[in-house]
Amino acid sequence: MGEDPKLHLVAWDRVCFPIQQGGLGVRHLIPFNRALLGKWLWRFGLEETHLWRRVVVAKYGVGRGGWTSNTPRGTHGCSLWKHIWMGWEDFSMHIRLEVGFGSRVSLWHDKWCSDCPLKEIFPRLYECSLNQEDSIASVIISQGMGQACVWNVTFGRDCNDWELDQMVTFLSLLHTHTPRGDDGDKLVWGPCRKGIFDSRSFYHVLHTPLEICFPWKGIWGMKSPPRFAFFMWTVAWGCILTCDNLKKKGFVLAGWCCMCKNADETVDHLLLHCWFARQLWNFVFQFVGIDWVLPLNVPNLLFGWWNWFGKRSSGVWNLIPSCLMWTIWRERNKRTFENMESCG
Ligand SMILES: [Zn+2]
Repeated sequence: MGEDPKLHLVAWDRVCFPIQQGGLGVRHLIPFNRALLGKWLWRFGLEETHLWRRVVVAKYGVGRGGWTSNTPRGTHGCSLWKHIWMGWEDFSMHIRLEVGFGSRVSLWHDKWCSDCPLKEIFPRLYECSLNQEDSIASVIISQGMGQACVWNVTFGRDCNDWELDQMVTFLSLLHTHTPRGDDGDKLVWGPCRKGIFDSRSFYHVLHTPLEICFPWKGIWGMKSPPRFAFFMWTVAWGCILTCDNLKKKGFVLAGWCCMCKNADETVDHLLLHCWFARQLWNFVFQFVGIDWVLPLNVPNLLFGWWNWFGKRSSGVWNLIPSCLMWTIWRERNKRTFENMESCG
């Protein structure tokens, strides 16, 4: 029995979505692993004296500012750091530098005063700059204790008229970001408010599911047994094994609804629009004294139904759709597999 092949109901990518976006909140292992390895990319920039970093630097050399190694090349040796370093491109998109002394921050290449490096914001000025590879410390002149520093960025030619606006913007940007020069340069992690790296925030930027409107409250937000909730979750994705879904998976069968024997068996037909299902829904509507038109599909029903159509909170009310759909599903399975019909 355990050897029987099982059908996959919901795609693994969807299972890995957060619960609020229709998943089960399971971590997707590939981005999660990359997020954990990101910790080493972060530590490389901070742990200058540590033995492991010195070994990596001895082998691959150190990149500009000492925030990472040079690109690991070569086919020999252990590929551990090479593998970790492959995450640098994604990692570096989310870091910026906070300038202290400025010796580890590149004026043109690093993100330090804006969301982009200055060479990308002012490409024409960068082209004629004589400080293309310089650090901030080397283009700042200190005027003594307690005095503000002065910028000394030089260019290979005078500005053209049409470049003046850019030059003014560039210089004012520099002046509003003149470093105080009283501390070391710092690495700042953008996705976390405190600016310090954590794997959880890196995972979230590496694995951002599409914005999906999913009625998760109507499934997980009430006290129903997990089996019910899981059933409703597969129903909301339209993935329970109705005849139309079985046909999509390659089974050859008649495909009609065994309740009314009058239409194709789809999830929405079976649970909402089938004559048999409508009798049950109408019974509930009459019992509670409401008049409501059933929506086209299950997710819309769950959205609309939640908390008395959004009017007041009620745990029992919220349970009604899952109880009713579970009852229909059980009856349908009895008729399909045991050829039995419940009485009454
Ligand atoms: Zn039917």
